[in-house]
Amino acid sequence: MSNEYIVNIELPGIQTEIKEARKIFSDFYEKYCTTFDLADEAKIKMVYKAAQIMGIFARAKAIRQLLFGRNISLYGVCYLGTKCNQNCKFCPMGQANWKMHLHGKTSSDRLITLSLEEASADLDALVQIGHREICILAGEAIACDPGKVVEYAQLAVYKPGVHEVILNMGAYTQRTFEFIKETIVLPAGVKLQHRVFQETYVKTEYDYYMERAPREHGSKADFDFRYNSQVAALKAGFDEVGIGVLFGLSRYPLKEIKGLQQHAAYIKKYGGKYPKRCCLPIANNPEPDTNPVDVKYLIPGMSTEQMITELIYALARLAMPTVSTVSSERDNPGTLELLDQYANHTTLFVHPAPGGNIKSLDELHGETFSHGYKPVAQAEVFPRYPREAIKSWQKRGYNILGFNITKYDLCP
Ligand code: SF4
Repeated sequence: MSNEYIVNIELPGIQTEIKEARKIFSDFYEKYCTTFDLADEAKIKMVYKAAQIMGIFARAKAIRQLLFGRNISLYGVCYLGTKCNQNCKFCPMGQANWKMHLHGKTSSDRLITLSLEEASADLDALVQIGHREICILAGEAIACDPGKVVEYAQLAVYKPGVHEVILNMGAYTQRTFEFIKETIVLPAGVKLQHRVFQETYVKTEYDYYMERAPREHGSKADFDFRYNSQVAALKAGFDEVGIGVLFGLSRYPLKEIKGLQQHAAYIKKYGGKYPKRCCLPIANNPEPDTNPVDVKYLIPGMSTEQMITELIYALARLAMPTVSTVSSERDNPGTLELLDQYANHTTLFVHPAPGGNIKSLDELHGETFSHGYKPVAQAEVFPRYPREAIKSWQKRGYNILGFNITKYDLCP
């Protein structure tokens, strides 16, 4: 069944539950839109308490259980490069690239792009780890050239066992998506997904964070162009699309969840289907000394961090019950176990730097890896070791999809 549902979501009884979940979100949004305020920890505690009393967490867990059961699907990430000229203020790569721009530099040891051979080895490592759904991410150096996008994507779709490849690279026109779709040779059964995060749906904040992006066609500076990218991909024949927000860029998380909900409805109306995945990462500051980010509301470190995170995932589940919500190893393993009750898709063993998966194989085999420079990392992560993570999911009764668990010795 598509999207990992365990029921036919078109059945009248299921549709009633879906509508009820959306209504619970709408009522909560009306009441607490600006009370769930990242600038005021006392208000956050009050909203969390109100959510408990209103049964928000229980209702969110129940709709996840009804539609997805105990299914949880996994994906791996291949970072192709750190060179990017978009200069987003919330991104360590954006900050590093901007510093170089200010100093008139064009290259650095830390800003790199994998060759096709290196990318192929990194993708092989993901397959060896057990991944079957693979997201390939790239900065502008690759993303701006659709021909290069095709070359890298072609490597990924050919890897044995891979059933879905996510291109998380840039926003494009329908024509460019058509070129990509028509040029890639897709093996039977392998799906292609386009995913970009809108980052924030609050237009004034979007303009603030993207003000250093180049003013040219296709640039991230163009909010509307990015907003239409998923529709363009679906019209061009992509199988699936994904959306996402980076929490902490704007003050009121409920506005961002409403933005995601409206974007999903827009994609359904003009592209013909809802997004398959919705990512809900929290902005962090992985390199505070070398490449500090400019994020207005850094949630990591707040005393209410876990409350905020749980509220976001529970409310997003209610707002978009049928969309697969995604957690990531930006959150620590303890928080991720909590989020499993709301999200049904997650990363496993992510190493957010080009070539990171090759190095992770050494880790997996119990070796330490240390040589050379450390590339700029886009996000701090707490990668879970596959064997322990699989055991934990199985112990808690989850069915793991999209991953070759037979590779691991799982005897108790
Ligand atoms: S968020 Fe993406 S587009 Fe923006 S600077 Fe970082 S890599 Fe480039």
